[in-house]
Formats: sequence, C-alpha cells, structure tokens
Amino acid sequence: MPQESSYNSLSAFEKLESNVRSYSRSFPVVFRKAAGATLEDENGFEFIDFLSGAGALNYGHNDPDLLNDVTEYLKSNGIIHALDMATSAKREFMEYFDETILRPRGLTYKFQFPGPTGANAVEAALKLARKITGRHSIISFTNGFHGVSLGALSVTGNRYYRDAAGVPPAGVVFMPYDGYWGADNNSSDYLARVLADASSGLDLPAAIILETVQGEGGINPASKGWLQSLEQLCRQNAILLIVDDIQAGCGRTGNFFSFEFADLSPDIVVLSKSLSGCGLPLSLLLLKPDLDVWRPGEHNGTFRGNNLALVAGTAALRKYWTNKNLSAEVTKTGYILSEHLRQVAQNNRNYNLSVRGRGMMLGLDCGTGKLAGKIVRKAFQDGLVVERCGSEDQVIKILPPLTIDGETLQRGLDILDKSVHEACERMDLPAHFLL
Ligand code: PLP
Repeated sequence: MPQESSYNSLSAFEKLESNVRSYSRSFPVVFRKAAGATLEDENGFEFIDFLSGAGALNYGHNDPDLLNDVTEYLKSNGIIHALDMATSAKREFMEYFDETILRPRGLTYKFQFPGPTGANAVEAALKLARKITGRHSIISFTNGFHGVSLGALSVTGNRYYRDAAGVPPAGVVFMPYDGYWGADNNSSDYLARVLADASSGLDLPAAIILETVQGEGGINPASKGWLQSLEQLCRQNAILLIVDDIQAGCGRTGNFFSFEFADLSPDIVVLSKSLSGCGLPLSLLLLKPDLDVWRPGEHNGTFRGNNLALVAGTAALRKYWTNKNLSAEVTKTGYILSEHLRQVAQNNRNYNLSVRGRGMMLGLDCGTGKLAGKIVRKAFQDGLVVERCGSEDQVIKILPPLTIDGETLQRGLDILDKSVHEACERMDLPAHFLL
C-alpha cells in the first residue's frame, strides 16, 4: 500500500496544476523513477505498470539501450531542435524505418513529421485527405478515439470530450464500428448500401479513419473481414483509408502495424505514442507517395520531428524490429494473458465479465464503470497501475509493456485477480456495508 505521506505530497498539484489533470487523480502518488515494467513513487513504493503510458511505452520505461543512444547523442552535441531542417538523426530514422519496417512488408510510403502528438498527426491526415479529394466529410466510427484537438475531436465519438469543444465538431459522419450492433450485423454492409444509394443522404467522404482495435473506446477489435470490406469500399469509391495506429501500432497487437493481419494497404497511416520507444514525443504520417500533394510549409509547426525522439526511435527499431522475436513474444504473451483473463471472468461468473482484444492490447469488460472503478482502485492500492476505457469506463485496459518479464507479469496478474475477486465480493454486499 502506498504510504499516506505520498498522497499528502500531492497538495502542490492540487494547488498549482489545472483541474484538467486526470491520471494523477486515478493514481494519487508522486512518481519519481521507472524501469522496465515498474514505477516507483517518492516513498520508494513499487508499482507494476499495466498502463504503459497509454501505449507510449511498449518497450517499457527507460530501456537502457535506447537511453544509451539518447545520452551519447546529447553528449556529442547532436542537434535537438531544427524545425523541419534536414538532420542526420532524421535521415537515419527514415532510412532505417524504410529498411526494417516498410520494405520487408512491401510498403512504400513518404514520411511527414507533424507536431509531436498523436492529435497533431490526425489533424494533418484529415486536412490532407480533404485537400487531395476536394471533399469535406470524413467517416469515423462509434467509439473511435483520435485525440482532442478540434479536428481530431471531430472524429472522436466520446460525448464527454465532444461536449468540451465549445463549437460543433463538423464535417464528420459516424458509422457503426464492427460488432456495434452485435456479431450478427455486419456494419460494412450498411456502409456499402448508403454509399451506393444516391439518395441515402450520405455525401461521398474524403476519407474513412479507423483504429483496427479501438483503444480508448473500449478495446474493440475489428475483424479481418470487416476491415477488408472497408478497404474495398474505399477503393471502389475513391475514398482514402486512414489507419490510426497511434495506440495499436508499434507492435502492440503483435506485428509492427496493427493492420498487417488483415493485409490492408492504408493510404495514410498515423503513428505516435511508442514510435520513439522511450516516451519522447514524436508522431509520423506515412503517405502513399502519390498523395503527397502538400505545397512547401503548407502544414507546419515548430516541433516537427523531435531529433532526440528520432534517435531513440532508430535505436528501438534496431533493438526490436530487425527480427521477429518481439512479434512472436507478443503473440505468445497475449495468448497467455487472454487465457488468464478468461479464467478470471470464469471465476467471477456472477458478474458477466468478458475479455477481448488482440495481441497485448486486451480489455476486461466489467459491464459497469462502477465495478471496473472498484477493481482498478483496489489494484492500485496493491501496487498495480491499470486504467479503464470504454463509453462508461467499464473496461479494464490491460496494456503491459511488450517486454515485461514473466515474473513481473505474474505478480501484476495476481494483484489484478485479487482486486477483481474483492471488488466483486464487495459489490455483493448490501449498500449500507459499502459506506
Ligand atoms: N489516436 C489514438 C488511437 C489514440 O489512442 C490517441 C491517444 O490516446 C490519439 C489518437 C491522440 O494522441 P495524443 O494524446 O498524443 O494527442
């Protein structure tokens, strides 16, 4: 249990930091250090990390090989800020990415480095799709999450975030994601129908944007068949396909790109989060070369292509993506994890818990936000950092570092099992016991 003084030391944040802060409320301690799959607070209490910076730390905290390249670069006076000038760090990253990721997969893309966040990349992708096609509308999906700046927010479904916009998020039509109406209804058939019907009221969109596994929306994996029919619809109707691989990419679902299992060839791919491999901000658009219709500087920003992050990103590719070992490990660990979670669901049958996801991007759906909330709070008290997602925060999102060792994984799962068990038991108590 984290010490009481750890909680007290949060007063500076309460006094000085905006009300908008969120994770510091879910995990109310002051963190000081981190390594691999563990975090440490100011009192030396250790937490196992099943959050991984919401997908930004697929290779764990402070990978020593990545940090080594970063510190060597700093010591050598390597350039840190250069706007979008040509730098050796950027050249090395692009060439290495092309060589280790794109070419072996038969993919050809040009690189665009927007501002460093995921939302920056989504904004650029939407803007480019509209510029290329001359159409204004975009199709996004129920429960999709693509960021909270105004353009990215317009393709994000969650009402809590949309309500904060202050202006109506415009130019987007939401369609049902795979499985939204239950397994028997294929929502791509509906989309095919309204696209084909000149009287459906649906304007031909510039692009379809999707996550192959919805992260914030509740860990909803789309099937191969659904993804392929959407790609086909895009091709038939000259609509651009944008895959937002910000959370599901960089190995999270097994392969480097989350869409590989469905053999997709998206027109635009957006990446961020784990791209630098060590939590440094970096985002990237991959564009089919004929789509690169930008005029120089037309889309810009001061912090495009963070050189330190590019150095770390190259080191991450070198360490983890020159062979298939990490992919194989993710598939194996993902299977063990999902079987374990299914057992947890079985053991607490009264609560209709269910498990879904792909690779090491898994969700334990607790049915209600109340139960999921009790579980994650209990888990935190016992030393596990894990967050919730879904429209009602009803899904526990299990996102350990891909590199987590078996022993730490087991310790984390033990805490989770106990928390699920205890929270379910407490839910069974009459209300006056819960006061
Ligand atoms: N797209 C997806 C799929 C995400 O999960 C996120 C963040 O969680 C974003 C976009 C936005 O990224 P950022 O928070 O870096 O703006």
